[in-house]
Amino acid sequence: MYDDQNIFARILKQDIPCKKVSENEYYLAFEDLYPKAPIHILIIPKGRYSDATDFHQNAANEEIIGYYKGINDVVDQLKLSDGYRLITNCGYHGGQEVPHYHIHLLAGKKLHHSIV
Ligand code: AMP
Repeated sequence: MYDDQNIFARILKQDIPCKKVSENEYYLAFEDLYPKAPIHILIIPKGRYSDATDFHQNAANEEIIGYYKGINDVVDQLKLSDGYRLITNCGYHGGQEVPHYHIHLLAGKKLHHSIV
């Protein structure tokens, strides 16, 4: 079940503000409120998908393509030629806090190798 009151749903409805980086028809990218790296962007689909599984199972192909190509738009816009990291947390074991699918884009310094 998708929670229409989750914080990212409210950002999409413009009920609450965000620091927008870019968007297209299928995605919105904005700065994480509590950055874990010099550059920490959240990239969310505009559709109502609670997590990675939901998005990959239920989004239309054009939504999936539009969303994932949007990640490259952000990378190009921010000129991340030195690299970056993409992370998604899914569900309880994945440590997901906000139940609207999102990918974290981290960059701006050499990140540690640890994945946990
Ligand atoms: P996750 O644990 O993968 O669900 O990540 C949720 C992320 O959302 C965390 O990194 C939070 O810092 C971030 N966050 C929570 N509220 C906001 C907000 N209002 N604007 C931007 N980022 C937020």
